[in-house]
Amino acid sequence: MTLPPRTRTPWQRWRSAWRRWSLWTLLAVLVASMLITLVWLAGRYEASQVQSRLERDAADAGSDIRAALSRNVQSLQALQAGDPALLAWEVNATELLRQRRELVRIEWRDNNLRLRAHAQTPYRPMPWETANREGSHTDAALACTNALRLGAPAYSGSYFQPHGDGMGSEMMELCLPLNRAGHASGFLVATYALQEMLVDLVGHNLTRRQEASFTEADGTRLAVLGAARRGTRMFSAQQLLDLPGTTLVLRMDSWHGEPSVFPNVLTALVTAMSIALVTVMVVLVRDNRRRLRAERDLADALAFRKAMEDSLVTGLRARDLEGHITYVNPAFCAMVGFSPQELLGQSTSAPYWPPEFAEEYRQRQATRFAGGMPPREGFESVFMRKDGTRFPVLIIEAPLINAQGLHTGWMSAFLDISEQRRVEELSRASQERLQATARLATVGEMASLLSHELNQPLAAISSYATGSLNLLDSSAPGNLQDVRMAMQHIARQAERAGRVIKSVHDFVRRRDQTREAVLPQELLDAILPIISLQARKLGVRVHTAVEPHLPRTLCDRTMVEQVLLNLARNAMQAMDDPAIHPRILDIRVRRGPSNAYSGWVEFSVTDGGVGIAPEVAQQLFTPFFTTRAEGMGLGLSLCRTVVEQHGGFLAYEPHAPRGTVFTFTLPVCQPTPT
Ligand code: ADP
Repeated sequence: MTLPPRTRTPWQRWRSAWRRWSLWTLLAVLVASMLITLVWLAGRYEASQVQSRLERDAADAGSDIRAALSRNVQSLQALQAGDPALLAWEVNATELLRQRRELVRIEWRDNNLRLRAHAQTPYRPMPWETANREGSHTDAALACTNALRLGAPAYSGSYFQPHGDGMGSEMMELCLPLNRAGHASGFLVATYALQEMLVDLVGHNLTRRQEASFTEADGTRLAVLGAARRGTRMFSAQQLLDLPGTTLVLRMDSWHGEPSVFPNVLTALVTAMSIALVTVMVVLVRDNRRRLRAERDLADALAFRKAMEDSLVTGLRARDLEGHITYVNPAFCAMVGFSPQELLGQSTSAPYWPPEFAEEYRQRQATRFAGGMPPREGFESVFMRKDGTRFPVLIIEAPLINAQGLHTGWMSAFLDISEQRRVEELSRASQERLQATARLATVGEMASLLSHELNQPLAAISSYATGSLNLLDSSAPGNLQDVRMAMQHIARQAERAGRVIKSVHDFVRRRDQTREAVLPQELLDAILPIISLQARKLGVRVHTAVEPHLPRTLCDRTMVEQVLLNLARNAMQAMDDPAIHPRILDIRVRRGPSNAYSGWVEFSVTDGGVGIAPEVAQQLFTPFFTTRAEGMGLGLSLCRTVVEQHGGFLAYEPHAPRGTVFTFTLPVCQPTPT
């Protein structure tokens, strides 16, 4: 687990923030440069597309011109077909000139280059000086010389032909050598106007943004056609027209308008994608920031949870649905003495199960995994430490539900209750000691009663013995009968004294702790002799009423007898007042208060005594509270403890017209339907 943020030094925090942000900055720079490169490449691609289209157009235009020139050569040759008369030739030549605007003049010359006939274009009248044209150094003459040498049509270089109106245009001559029956029979000289060539042969394919021109090698324009617009994005393509005798350069220029943000679909697409990419990046940064915050919160929560777990004294253990231990907290490890590594992953037999209980625990685990819910208040069990010592634990189990609401296992909390058990044992022992003390106090009290009670039989025995001795001394004949009777009385009185002593002995000696099923009548019978002792002394009449067919109660016989005895003694003492007469102690036993089914037997001890004053009532059950000089104040507090240990309750209420009723209940041994 990472350290929680608050434990980091500022330097560490700065370093981790720098590492994170430097990565993001690097990513942003990379993405930006990639996008710029993409846009630039898209622009370049677009430019190259325009350039190649222009070059294709230039090549098309070049081949158009070449085709037109060779077509013209054929048409010119056709003029000589059938050896025409001069006049007819001129008519045909004029017709040809009308059809072909790029041709401005056709001449028929003889072998010496002298003019025999000629025709001129009807579209543009121009002054032609025949004398100049017939010279041996004219362009036409040079072309014819070339043609003669090649034995095929030849072209001259371009030259400027003034129009006479101060203007002029570039021309080019074509010379066709004529043959008749294998002999040279003159020449046909056709004059091309370069400007018209562009207009007629290239113009129809030219777009508005293109410009076509014939140039010289140094770039001088001879003829131009098309838009003369200039912009920053100019494209240019050249095509060489290699004609026999001369070479023309056809150049095409194209401008591509003002540079725009989205020159074409590709660039627009790339730009849109770039914007999308940047947006995604921004969203990612935001998301990342949110994640970081969540991570920090999670680390805080984890640190908090860990601190909580470490400070817990309750052992925690989680198991999956197969029973494998998936988690233990430090308190659990400390409790059983095993390390987490020794515990995690264990399933069928955990190392802290005492071998003698392992089978029982395995069955308990099987029940749990079969869907048996554990008791909510938990259950007790015994675990074994690593050193083999056993200790009691309280286990509280609950199903483990994950974030999706699925049941993934069981979480158990363990409390080591050995200390609690020890305290309980201590308190039980001290309780017993207290009871023994109270019993001894009762015994002490009874000793004085005993001496009083034994006085009577002993005095009777003594007087019978004296009488018998006298009778034996007088040795009269009827005396033997009297002596026998006296002896019988002595025996009866001695038996009575023995019974008194035995009842006390039984009471003091009996220390049977176990609970047993006892009839209520038996409980009463056990204490009645002792009660009678005190009743006789105080002049109290004892009434008992036991409902017939009462079930047996499950109780610690000795303790319950002690309770009854305490209550009866308190009742008699409450009536030890000269003003109170008659003194009646009423002990009743009946079924518990419910009519439908009663699992309880109710004992009540009623007296007609002084009653309980409010200030006494407040402390009635407080140990060592007493209003009597010789009292110890333990009686009622013990009574309540004993009754509550049996699951019953002890209560009291005033009795009309005078006195108090103490009531307590005891559980019935076998529940019997009423
Ligand atoms: P002790 O009998 O040693 O005084 P108890 O705990 O039995 O101790 O009784 C505490 C006090 O409660 C008595 O001192 C007495 O004042 C009062 N008390 C108990 N039972 C009765 C009763 N039936 N009527 C009036 N007072 C009673």
